[in-house]
Amino acid sequence: MTRYSRKKGNHGYSAKRKQLKMRKRTRDLDEIDVDMRPENAKQLLNQKIDVDVPGCAQYYCIHCARYFIDNHAMKEHFRSKVHKRRLKALETEPYTQKEAEAAAGIGNYTAPKKRKVETQELKE
Ligand SMILES: [Zn+2]
Repeated sequence: MTRYSRKKGNHGYSAKRKQLKMRKRTRDLDEIDVDMRPENAKQLLNQKIDVDVPGCAQYYCIHCARYFIDNHAMKEHFRSKVHKRRLKALETEPYTQKEAEAAAGIGNYTAPKKRKVETQELKE
């Protein structure tokens, strides 16, 4: 065999792979939790026209942190499995430092609260 035989398995660090991974990345659930607060939600739903994002930033799903091209696409998304699964995931409050401390025996443990998450209203 030659000295430079083909490597199997891990091909090491690849800048291209990392780039693709980062592009696919969306907001985390705890970031979305912040977005869901009324004052932030209002701002996100009434964004200025931005030609760089799909639909000029006029159709945005807060819960999935996604832009849509038109009202129809957004409506279809609200009925999709991805969106419903996301609403379910957002029902439990995000993990906090307080909860971590409680688990370690500091303070009292209170189970994370469940809440109802509703799909935002469609604008015409
Ligand atoms: Zn959604």
